[in-house]
Amino acid sequence: MSNNHEYVIAIDLGTTGNRAILFDKDGAIVKQAYKELTQYYPQPGWVEHDAGEIWRETRQLVNEVIAEADTQPSQIAALGLTVQRETCLLWDKTTGKPLHHAIVWQDRRTAPMCRQLHEERKAEPIQQRTGLVLDAYFSATKLAWLLDRVKSDNPNLDLSNAIAGTIDTWVLWNLTGGKVHATDRSNASRTMLMNLETGDWDPQLLRLFDISESMMPKVMPSLGHFGATKGDLFGAEIPITAIFGDQQAALFAHGCDRPGLLKCTYGTGCFLVAQTGTEMVRSQNQLLTTVAWADENTTNYALEGAMFTTGACIQWLRDGLELIKSAPETQTLCESVPDSNGVFFVPALSGLGAPHWDMGARGSFQGITGGVRREHMVRSVLESIAYQVKEVVDAMNRDGDTAISLLKVDGGASQNDFLMQFQADVLGIPVERPAILDATAQGSAFGAGLVVGFYPDYAELVSKRQVDRTFEPGAGAEKAQADFEMWKKAVDRAKNWVE
Ligand code: ADP
Repeated sequence: MSNNHEYVIAIDLGTTGNRAILFDKDGAIVKQAYKELTQYYPQPGWVEHDAGEIWRETRQLVNEVIAEADTQPSQIAALGLTVQRETCLLWDKTTGKPLHHAIVWQDRRTAPMCRQLHEERKAEPIQQRTGLVLDAYFSATKLAWLLDRVKSDNPNLDLSNAIAGTIDTWVLWNLTGGKVHATDRSNASRTMLMNLETGDWDPQLLRLFDISESMMPKVMPSLGHFGATKGDLFGAEIPITAIFGDQQAALFAHGCDRPGLLKCTYGTGCFLVAQTGTEMVRSQNQLLTTVAWADENTTNYALEGAMFTTGACIQWLRDGLELIKSAPETQTLCESVPDSNGVFFVPALSGLGAPHWDMGARGSFQGITGGVRREHMVRSVLESIAYQVKEVVDAMNRDGDTAISLLKVDGGASQNDFLMQFQADVLGIPVERPAILDATAQGSAFGAGLVVGFYPDYAELVSKRQVDRTFEPGAGAEKAQADFEMWKKAVDRAKNWVE
């Protein structure tokens, strides 16, 4: 490897926003740029992104960090890409234009299609093949919906030009100037079209959803050579050597490469992911079996509890209800009252994921009385994030032999000290927060750098990560755990709200 390589670059395309980060030889952050992403809510339960905006921002953010770091693109050894998962789109490979907005993972528009599949007794074979619970969350029904819509909107359209992909595939295709149409196995495992045993598209599932294999990207290992950025984009051909789903990237960054190690990321949603090694573990408690990552020779698997709406509730307090001006403000607001004054919030803004999998659940505030103020409402929303994680930790404990004794966290909302303390209280175990909360970006940078030899050793890289703070269960634990029982009652009432 040439000696002038000083950095690796991570592109982290999240649900709330997009990021580019330059990492140095020690795995430390040198520069970063971030921009929030526009959310479109065309109907209740529908969520869309403009894939054109995602690509324009990606290009802009990469150029911005390179310029601000005062470096040459030729000094970048490799590029790692990590993305919001399941979100998918169709585009025209001749014009490069998306044929519709991307449908975001939180979107519930295909719930009726899923219900029909449930009635046709397809849930079990789908779970057997993909490791996933049949739900509108995953890409398959979204792609089927997009194909239908695009065909009915443009009856004369030549569909042989249309290709499909998740956000990694879209951005990889653009980064390589339309040369590479591929995805990695961790992202593919979230589409509900990949067979977990073969690690490739399942012909029966493609038939079931009426999706032609020729539109689908090639499934590749997460760690390997995907191609290089087109020279004129950033001024150098940077090798693209790692692609992960965002949760899998965070798992990689935390050093969770062996069974028994797990992490929870607090972003738009919360995702508790436990490494199970090269063994596929099937859950008895509605958790997902998924690919952690793959290299040329090996595939690692994970068990996952996906909670759809956590940080997103905080965005909603800010942008929808306008109860707060910024997310960090919730910390002081929550700490200004001793409790939520009897208010319980059910964060089912996109239905409920693990462990309920209820597409018809909707959000609700319950227990409101005349003395309730803004602070109590806000506090109930933050508490509900911790309660959801508690439910999934309980489910994982029921699935495993050893009870979880420490929760490693990361993600935007883990900055919130109130939330982390309340989480430790309600779980009754310590919560460990690292110094670098962008584990997602960090994981993809680590992966990309390891493939090209920029980083010599994974274990050493992971050992350099530092803990910022450990939250121990404290004086609030007893009340938090009692309130968790009340909250479960509220959840029961919010379930099956829409048919
Ligand atoms: P994603 O990768 O899903 O886009 P991030 O990890 O970037 O998510 O985190 C963004 C989320 O974190 C937003 O939903 C935001 O509301 C939440 N967030 C950011 N800062 C705070 C904070 N100080 N307190 C609580 N939530 C926060």
